[in-house]
Amino acid sequence: MLDHEETSGETDVNGSLPSLRLQIRDEARQIHPCTIDRDIQPTVLRLRPLEYRLDRFFVDDVDPDCFSSPTEFYGAFPPAFDVDVTLAYATEANLTGQPVYRNAECWLHREAADKLAAAIALARPLGLRLRIFDALRPVEAQWALWNARPDPEFLADPRRGSPHSRGVAVDLTLLDGDRELDMGTAFDAFTPLSHHGRTDVSAEAQRNRLLLMGLMTSAGWDFYRNEWWHYQLFDQRRYPLVSDADLPRPMM
Ligand SMILES: [Zn+2]
Repeated sequence: MLDHEETSGETDVNGSLPSLRLQIRDEARQIHPCTIDRDIQPTVLRLRPLEYRLDRFFVDDVDPDCFSSPTEFYGAFPPAFDVDVTLAYATEANLTGQPVYRNAECWLHREAADKLAAAIALARPLGLRLRIFDALRPVEAQWALWNARPDPEFLADPRRGSPHSRGVAVDLTLLDGDRELDMGTAFDAFTPLSHHGRTDVSAEAQRNRLLLMGLMTSAGWDFYRNEWWHYQLFDQRRYPLVSDADLPRPMM
């Protein structure tokens, strides 16, 4: 099993991941970054939304036991996914004050996409939908956010890697029709009021946070205690980091 503590990403100033040194069975190896099977054309896949098998990432020269499966990315947007995609970092309304993404693509690792579908199915009978603020966030975007606000309480240090940059985290809220449910703070409000377990936001906001947490954890997601909007897969460090150039269509 690939263990994060045995791994050191060697990032350049732009945040790309030119190489990765792995310490496996007492043997250090220099491996290539993820390379992509580009046989599958996104244009074709657009016509087959239930079969978003957009790209598979293969890491050369790594013991196959290191990864549970090849990484596959799915486009988590309608019609395959009944969600509202409103990526905050594709607009100026984010902590950097300018768009981080040129293209508002909403990718997720296959295993995360499966669990998002489960959460959608749990919300639907309640008349609720999910609004996605962020999903896969390329390593370069994590650097852009970190450079604007290097606050480890709310952002993962890009040298360690964000679960978003592995395609296994989502930032989201609940929609009733077109209305976002009151969660007590806005998305990305870097304040202790964004933490779970606060009793000094309104009772309605507490109920809504617990409702979102119930839906997401029932669907198999882990929560993050400092951000009511953030959910990620367990064992997120099992999944490789993704640079913008690795994506089927670039975001940056
Ligand atoms: Zn997040």
